[in-house]
Amino acid sequence: MIAGRKTLLTMLPLALLAGLTFLPLQAQTTASPMNPAQTATAAPAQTAAQPAYTLPPDELAKAITLGRIRNVLDLAGSLWSIVFLWLLLAAGAFAGIERWTQRISERRWVRGLIFFAALIVITTLAGLPFDWLGQHYERSYGISVQGWGSWLGDEAKSLGLALLFGVPVLLLFNWVVKRWPRRYWFGIWVLTLPILVLTVFIEPLLVPVFYKQEPLQQHHAALVARMETVVARTGINIPPDRMYLIKASAKSKGINAFVAGIGATKRYVMWDTATDQMPDDEILFVFGHESGHYVLHHIPKILAGSAIGMFFMYWACAAFATRLVRRYGARWGADGLASRTGFVVLLFAISLAGFLMEPASNAFSRHFEHQADIYGQEAIHGIVVDPQKTAVAAFNKLGESWLEDPNPNPIIEFWLFNHPSVAHRAEFAEHYNPWANGGHGEFFKN
Ligand SMILES: [Zn+2]
Repeated sequence: MIAGRKTLLTMLPLALLAGLTFLPLQAQTTASPMNPAQTATAAPAQTAAQPAYTLPPDELAKAITLGRIRNVLDLAGSLWSIVFLWLLLAAGAFAGIERWTQRISERRWVRGLIFFAALIVITTLAGLPFDWLGQHYERSYGISVQGWGSWLGDEAKSLGLALLFGVPVLLLFNWVVKRWPRRYWFGIWVLTLPILVLTVFIEPLLVPVFYKQEPLQQHHAALVARMETVVARTGINIPPDRMYLIKASAKSKGINAFVAGIGATKRYVMWDTATDQMPDDEILFVFGHESGHYVLHHIPKILAGSAIGMFFMYWACAAFATRLVRRYGARWGADGLASRTGFVVLLFAISLAGFLMEPASNAFSRHFEHQADIYGQEAIHGIVVDPQKTAVAAFNKLGESWLEDPNPNPIIEFWLFNHPSVAHRAEFAEHYNPWANGGHGEFFKN
């Protein structure tokens, strides 16, 4: 979503292993801290004291409070999941589960299935209070309109998917550690690469598990026809039957749209909150932004960046986990890294590294989002009357729909935001006019 909120894939334990958030590109539009070179081409100076993104006073107060709540829950939830693993290790809980699985089955792989399923269920339950609090506040501030029954159903579905995909992956990785006790981290890294690609491939197919989905054309034929004018300009290959509308309004007031998938599953997905709340011009800008992710190859670039980052992360985590097992193994009942409990020590190291690397992956994400914002504004040049005004209006709707704070703390933005703040994006859009004085944009010749 818009400002560092977690999405579908991060629920999968794979994301825990990967320690990455390559989903951020799903969320909508972008602009980052302004680049002076680009602002040099700004429109005639307006002495507008008014910021580009504003909220009415009563909403502003709510947005500031809600922003703080989200940040605290986000940070506390991440830290808690790491501390929780440590506490369970120290209490010998995983060694206990390991012994329990040995009583249930003779087969090592069956024991592994039970062990990792238990791990996923326990860690999910540990995170549930944070999810619940998040949903509670999103509801009380009117962002979420999802009933508790439906919410609980989504939590259960997420857990089911985590078990379905996570257990086999963990079992496989644990086997690699056992098979190659010294160079296992390299083996895990090699296996992670196809799994990452497969995850990106499968992810869009899971959207209907959570949302009703229909072809965008079904109820928005005129809009799709206008979107085709943007397609003609960008030259991307997203035929109308790869454009979908999901009924997000059943759960949220927030506006969003995303691109997802790879190859045969590549698609553009619009939340119906966008089509309900935005005029067509602004939707074209959102679509232009998402098209930018495609044209600028953001999915493969993020995959490649993640692969490089994970190479070093796995290497460092292997070294760290080896030290931990040497020091605490006897106390925790971890008989080497290849044991089930020892493997949890490795997972602990990876989740800690994932948390510490979040600012780096978010910085990459913000950069790509900013590029997509520029691309979106250029893509609608000549199609809408005033791309600057259209983009600024779209950002205001976006920010207001999520009640995003117009003045987020810069440190929080740096650490947690996978999109630049709406304030930064709107401010950039307001001043971005490369066509002034006969110039052209960064990505288009006209
Ligand atoms: Zn985006």
